[in-house]
Amino acid sequence: MGKQYETVIGLEVHVELATATKIFCGCSARFGGAPNTHTCPVCTGMPGSLPVLNKQVVEYALALGLAANCRVNRTCKFDRKNYFYPDNPQNYQISQLYLPICYDGSLEIKTASGKKKIRIHEMHMEEDAGKLIHDAWEDCSLVDYNRSGVPLVEIVSEPDMRSAEEVIAYLEKLRLICQYLGVSDCKLQEGSMRADVNLSVREAGSSELGTRTEMKNLNSFKAIARAIEGERERQIELLEEGKCVQQETRRWDDNKEYSYAMRSKEDAKDYRYFPDPDLPPVVISEAWTKRIKERQPELQEEKAGRYEKKLGLSAYDASLLTQSRYLADLFEQTVSLLEEKKIAGGPKKAANWFIGETLRLLKDRGMETEEIRFTPGHLADLIAVCEKGEVNNRTAKKVFEIMFDEDIDPVSYIEKNGLKSVTDTGALERVVDKVLAGNPKTVEEYKSGKTKVIGFLVGQVMQEMKGKADPQTVKRLLSEKCNSSDRSAHLLH
Ligand code: ADP
Ligand code: MG
Ligand code: ZN
Repeated sequence: MGKQYETVIGLEVHVELATATKIFCGCSARFGGAPNTHTCPVCTGMPGSLPVLNKQVVEYALALGLAANCRVNRTCKFDRKNYFYPDNPQNYQISQLYLPICYDGSLEIKTASGKKKIRIHEMHMEEDAGKLIHDAWEDCSLVDYNRSGVPLVEIVSEPDMRSAEEVIAYLEKLRLICQYLGVSDCKLQEGSMRADVNLSVREAGSSELGTRTEMKNLNSFKAIARAIEGERERQIELLEEGKCVQQETRRWDDNKEYSYAMRSKEDAKDYRYFPDPDLPPVVISEAWTKRIKERQPELQEEKAGRYEKKLGLSAYDASLLTQSRYLADLFEQTVSLLEEKKIAGGPKKAANWFIGETLRLLKDRGMETEEIRFTPGHLADLIAVCEKGEVNNRTAKKVFEIMFDEDIDPVSYIEKNGLKSVTDTGALERVVDKVLAGNPKTVEEYKSGKTKVIGFLVGQVMQEMKGKADPQTVKRLLSEKCNSSDRSAHLLH
């Protein structure tokens, strides 16, 4: 029988902070922009320029550290990590090695096999590098320093994960915390969240760690899952052949589903780290920490718990609604508007529109949650119109779809397009009578016990009414009339 292997994974995750300006200068930290327009002497490494720390970076890093149950270094410092590369204009990156801002934390993840704690070794602040553009001009590379100096927090986990499922649960958890705190939007595709996967394998039952490789260039959860599977197999194959795994950095090629060696693992000593002489140590007082803690908003799990207990939603619905803070905010605004309108069961009704139609249309249109255009006010109005029975369910869904695409005002849209259900029973009755008179055969069938044919009659009435009637009311009227005409027929005989 073949040997059993266990996969061991530790992650180094970089998160770009959503500050307005860069970490050591006043340039915009916004994503994009024409090349080299968000730049100044500091972030292009001009001689004589001096860095000044952005306080917001410290507060965001602190908020994230506290939310991940970390301890805080009362005094933290910045160090220079020296290396040459054209996207790094100073020839060093300002980072933290000896005294990172936070350490010793943990996040609890949930997978199919239950809850598990993933320990966090440390979190540190650092600056991002610029971007090399290789294929814009034929035989040279160009460099854009807009990203140079954008603040990052690096979150280093302990090697506590054992599968792709655990890795993705951990990243999702981290993403939700950042999103709820407002410290980062964590988009893998745009690079505002980047995960390097350190992976080793060992014989099941062994307590020693195997030699690991580090994989870079993973920009979707799917790529991460495939890279983990591919690298695990590659390492097992080496061990089975009696060879050794080389400690090295590898680049994952998601198209070829294979990783390539980039460089053998460098050590801290290769970077000649030393304390940055231009930046004083950062002293983080108890009082400052306390203020940040007090400002911490309700996070995802807490919010989902409240939706269950206070709003009476199912655990499933509560979890879906809170997977994006943006969605949860829209939901809560809708609920409070429904409350103002004194509509009973508002939370459940609003939840249905968000979970049913909204999520379906987002998927269908290939949109992100943050791209939702309709306002909570318009959704509340539409729900109110439904409550009054002014439109039937099918019409409401059609109106919602137009509202989803164009944020129309549903009330005036329904008015203008004459979509209101005809609640005037007189008009409805005339149509019902007409349909009954025009379909004597079907009416006979119904009376002889084939009650299913009523569906056909309802359809005829709905068509005559151009959909502007409540099918339930139509059905009730039809059966009432059939039964009573039956009775009067008996009387005549
Ligand atoms: P370095 O100092 O070389 O960057 P670290 O000890 O800081 O290495 O570890 C970097 C990342 O690699 C951490 O997330 C850690 O959990 C993970 N790691 C370390 N050793 C292993 C191993 N043998 N297998 C899998 N992951 C590992
Ligand atoms: Mg490292
Ligand atoms: Zn700058």
